Amino acid sequence: MASSCGGSGGGGGGCGSQCSSLRDSPSVVGEEGNEILEVVENASVSNGHRSILRCSKCGEETAVYNKLCLDCFRSFLYNKFKVSVTSNAMISPVDCVLVAFSGGPASRVALQFTHEMQLKSQKNWDASKDQQQPLPVFGVGVAFIDERAFYSANNSEIDEAIEEIRLTVSTLFPPAKQLYVEPIEKLFSLDLIEGKARLRKLLDTIDDPTGKDDFLHYLRAISLQKVASENGFNKIILGSCTNGIACHIISSTVKGQGYSLPADVQYIDGRWDVPVVLPLRDFVARDLIMFCHLDRLRTCQIFHQSECGINYLVSSFLTRLQEENPARVRTIVRTAEKLSPFGFNKYKEYISDDMVPSRLRSKVQNLRASESAPLETLCPICGTPLCDSDLVNLKNRKCQVECDVFVSYCCASCRYQIVPKEEDSFNNFYSLLPQLFTRRVKNGLHVDHNQLREQVEEFLLSDDDEECGDTA
Ligand SMILES: [Zn+2]
Ligand SMILES: [Zn+2]
Repeated sequence: MASSCGGSGGGGGGCGSQCSSLRDSPSVVGEEGNEILEVVENASVSNGHRSILRCSKCGEETAVYNKLCLDCFRSFLYNKFKVSVTSNAMISPVDCVLVAFSGGPASRVALQFTHEMQLKSQKNWDASKDQQQPLPVFGVGVAFIDERAFYSANNSEIDEAIEEIRLTVSTLFPPAKQLYVEPIEKLFSLDLIEGKARLRKLLDTIDDPTGKDDFLHYLRAISLQKVASENGFNKIILGSCTNGIACHIISSTVKGQGYSLPADVQYIDGRWDVPVVLPLRDFVARDLIMFCHLDRLRTCQIFHQSECGINYLVSSFLTRLQEENPARVRTIVRTAEKLSPFGFNKYKEYISDDMVPSRLRSKVQNLRASESAPLETLCPICGTPLCDSDLVNLKNRKCQVECDVFVSYCCASCRYQIVPKEEDSFNNFYSLLPQLFTRRVKNGLHVDHNQLREQVEEFLLSDDDEECGDTA
């Protein structure tokens, strides 16, 4: 799953420094954001005087960005967001969506626009509630994953930032939205002190800095899944934008995860219990940063990306690439989009016909009628679909011990970067791993559990045995 910028992203590489934030109030951006703002500000100043630029759309004499006035820029972005959501059937009226919020510009924009769409449906509902069947209004919740146990961070600063987030969420009404602040160590134990100790011990068993970084990312994704399923949400909205996805594409290629790459660059990722959607996939970070600045949306960078490992190198590399040509991140994502997606990236499985806009209905029905998606076996740590050679290895390995079965299901990248090689260290790692990971192997690790059952019954078990079994 691909991630939103910074904090509570979930899956697939953060937006790096592009989506970081915090300058002066009220809307604040990070170092790179500052540079973007300066470039834009300089462009509109000539001979020491701010030149008056006309908006290319409405003719208003106050163009502020990309030859557009704030109102036109705003409606351009909002419409783009709406098209992304509706043409991919990301949100239906009966949905309850959880927005993953990190505090950065990308997730701030995702939250803002999701709220505005909800507000609009609420108004339509209010206007039509006397009619027989008014369309219901989808629900929205917000989740912030508190990762302070992972970093040695300043507690009071984080508490302040969380209060700030609480304030932001409380202003987005009607309808009112619930904020879920989920400490990441809660995956390890309900007792947070014990959870933190277990998390720290587990991290100590991972030597590779990239492995540690990626592991945090998977913990975040699992935490979001946990919040969503415990609180009745059926979709997770991530603020992953083009820059974050481009970083993920390059770093996955370097890590040898090319096979599974198409899974992470689609609008919909349904391989998890709660499907994840990426409405900002086609938005570049500079537009989002600029929008937050101009629209005075408060953003804050709470957790900082570690400055070592492959992810950091790739993110710095892309930042430099963009200095010459800002369109390059888009080119990278466009190239990866040409790879064939997996069955779980198609929206047909997750929506009912009456929730699909009429112009899309036949497309969905055709998709449904086409062959059903093949079953994928997923790595229990990162969720990556295993490639043929991994599956052959899996078949050839005859593991008896539970932890060996687990490791045999891990993708090559996780085995190399995350799973400890030394036996004691590995045993320690496995014993500390949250159940939400180990359970994936015990449950059979497949995306479609009905298909799994059919496959298992057909090939592995006798007719009267209904158990899914502890892996083949
Ligand atoms: Zn305008
Ligand atoms: Zn993996």
